[in-house]
Amino acid sequence: MSRVLEELKSAGIAFSTDYEDLIAHCKDFNPLHQLKLIEKKTPALPEVVVFPKSIEEVSEVLKIANALRIPVYVFGGASGVIDSATPYEGGIALSTLGLDWIEIEEENRTVTCGAGVVGGRLEKILNHRGYSLRHIPQSLYCSTVGGWVATASSGQFSTGYGNIEDLIVSLKAVLPNGEILEERKTPRRAGVDLKRLFVGSEGLFGVIAEVTMKFFELPKESVKLSFEYDSIESALEDAKRFLSLKPALMRVFDDEETLRYFDSEAFSMIAIFEGNGAKESGMIARSISKGKEVEGYTDIWLEKRFDVSDISKIGVLGFVFDTIEVSCFWKPAAKLYRAVIEAIRRVEGTVTASAHASHFYESGLCFYFTFAGFPANAEGYYSEVWKRAIKASLENGGNTTHHHGIGRLRRAWMGEEFGSFLPLLKELKFLIDRNNIMNRGVLQ
Ligand SMILES: Cc1cc2nc3c(=O)[nH]c(=O)nc-3n(C[C@H](O)[C@H](O)[C@H](O)COP(=O)(O)OP(=O)(O)OC[C@H]3O[C@@H](n4cnc5c(N)ncnc54)[C@H](O)[C@@H]3O)c2cc1C
Repeated sequence: MSRVLEELKSAGIAFSTDYEDLIAHCKDFNPLHQLKLIEKKTPALPEVVVFPKSIEEVSEVLKIANALRIPVYVFGGASGVIDSATPYEGGIALSTLGLDWIEIEEENRTVTCGAGVVGGRLEKILNHRGYSLRHIPQSLYCSTVGGWVATASSGQFSTGYGNIEDLIVSLKAVLPNGEILEERKTPRRAGVDLKRLFVGSEGLFGVIAEVTMKFFELPKESVKLSFEYDSIESALEDAKRFLSLKPALMRVFDDEETLRYFDSEAFSMIAIFEGNGAKESGMIARSISKGKEVEGYTDIWLEKRFDVSDISKIGVLGFVFDTIEVSCFWKPAAKLYRAVIEAIRRVEGTVTASAHASHFYESGLCFYFTFAGFPANAEGYYSEVWKRAIKASLENGGNTTHHHGIGRLRRAWMGEEFGSFLPLLKELKFLIDRNNIMNRGVLQ
């Protein structure tokens, strides 16, 4: 490591070995990491944190690490929840936060940013000019543009505007050997779309250094609707019916979450239609809905949508809390919902298990399960809930992840998720990262 520090110094790249900086790069937002910190332990610790400020500096860092076979863990906002960039083998934590440039091209409705730009900052700058990314994950204020691409992120308005992969125009990446990848920017082209290799790559193939994304005009018109139902089936049927009206956002809440959010004993749905024609779409939605229209649920949800203060408090009290998002086709959806809830509730120590459906497609949807337990053994409980929930999802037509990613948490199910594509992923990793320096243990 002393060689690494010497080389970083002579290349003029900012780095730190201060304990505060190492601690800040020892974990992500995985609940077990939070529990470790409460016990004043760290899940892992890098030996140095580097803060490159340009793509060329990222390239220098990777060249140094590659030549010396030093592991590198990439850190954006560290809001990932899947035990992804944790530096279990020490080495280098590479923070992207210094890659913070923003160039707006209003005429083309595109913005080019350094990978370390935090979503909330970018969205505010666009809002001031009358635009929006419309990629609004709950972690908007603590996640980065590069992190979004690396985790295949999904925002609250994905039903109307798409997920991150639909919003990327182009990107620049640095391979583990320091080579910089760049392509011609264009709204679309045929041929193999190699930038897609970096979507969901979780740092496996190198560092995403710059991203060009589309943005949209802030909608001038919007209509917010809320409905109640007597079953998950009827709520989901309405959601499916509404899809042809192109809602910007829909959420279906089960009875437990309806009670928690809106203080009512029912299943519920909120929907937002926006832009030209929103009023008409809203009127049609009202006329075709089989639910009971209720007032104000959408506003309540919008008000609370970034607030995670409650869950931040319960960890210190000994509770284990997490969320599991999976996707499935429409046909098995209600059965899968019940199976996963039942599987989580059966684990000893579970206090609550609930779900909402948060992202919708012509072919299916994403269920977002939330559980909390007060177990005797936190780690044992946590792993048992995950095992049973994913098993229930897979056995009932679901998958293992919709948007949080794989990291180390879901590695065990990669075979089932990737099928016979998995060996290809391993071969690509070997081809691109011969010395296996990037994010060791993640997605592999
Ligand atoms: C309260 C809360 C709410 C959340 N809500 C959402 C949500 O609504 N939608 C959603 O999709 N996710 C959500 N997440 C999960 C998380 O915010 C996303 O996965 C986010 O995209 C991670 O971005 P980040 O910058 O924090 O990445 P990090 O956590 O720093 O990194 C995540 C992974 O990506 C890799 N990585 C990061 N940046 C780069 C880069 N530039 N190049 C290569 N690899 C990189 C890391 O090595 C790691 O493997 C939420 C998390 C929390 C804690």
